[in-house]
Amino acid sequence: MFNLLNTLVEKNREYGKEGKLASYIPALLEANPNDLGIYLVDSRGKEYYSGEYDKKFTMQSISKIVTLILAIRDNGRYNVFKKVDVEPTGMGFNSIVNLEASDTGKPYNPMINAGAIVTTSLIDGKDVEERFEKILDFMKAVTNNDKITVNESVYLSEKETGNRNRALAYFMKSTGALEGDVEEILDLYFKQCSIELTARDLARFGAVLANDGVIPWTNEKIIPKEVCRIVKTIMVTCGMYDASGEFAVNVGIPAKSGVGGGIIATVPRKYGIGIYGPALDDRGNSIAGINLIKDLSQELDLSIF
Ligand code: GLU
Repeated sequence: MFNLLNTLVEKNREYGKEGKLASYIPALLEANPNDLGIYLVDSRGKEYYSGEYDKKFTMQSISKIVTLILAIRDNGRYNVFKKVDVEPTGMGFNSIVNLEASDTGKPYNPMINAGAIVTTSLIDGKDVEERFEKILDFMKAVTNNDKITVNESVYLSEKETGNRNRALAYFMKSTGALEGDVEEILDLYFKQCSIELTARDLARFGAVLANDGVIPWTNEKIIPKEVCRIVKTIMVTCGMYDASGEFAVNVGIPAKSGVGGGIIATVPRKYGIGIYGPALDDRGNSIAGINLIKDLSQELDLSIF
């Protein structure tokens, strides 16, 4: 397995040159576009890795899986899906037009920014700090990494420049789709996007999802099986931005990407996979990462379809 991963990382690393770092969050421009790393955790807890699997980056949109899980845990599935739909958009992750076009005013799904801002608003807690602690505690448990924390400079950079997200949130506030203090909700959203981790952390989280919500190294059930099923389904239909259909055909694994260059993937009952490659394609997915996981899926016959 190590040989296979080394070969695939070196083969796909060159795609980094064809991509671009996310520049709309200035702090993300500090990454090295040639980095590419992968980490794999199998169902018996064996771990395999290659490339820059140990480099830190921010979760960005991958945090949308976490807020969906916590929103369902705090409110129940019915109350969450009363406020956010589960339909793919075919549009960019920060599109505004869909919000006005939707008959219900609800965001299309929890994996686009508007939908994630709503799920974030549904996490219980007396203030931003308490809610953020819940997100961080969850992340520490599913990654077996107590050191996980926020990258302050990315957080401040997002907060300073996140006007598109402000526009989405205030629009939803005006239609009643979003309830609560908008600035507080956005602050929590920017913080969760700025949680910093590695491909190893993502692979372990992926292994928990692959194991139907039971943490393999403690046997603790941290996510109900039914919630895991819902989250993995939405990862298939909406996880890879407006390239989710193509990804399902070419790779066929529930996955979620973020503009920090991360991809988390989960092969039910087989593998948790974490990938890092910060150069992005024009949809916002790691360009080398997508090519790497496509090769891996073919080599190991991982498609769930
Ligand atoms: N923090 C980013 C934003 O809100 C997350 C986007 C992403 O990773 O897709 O724009």
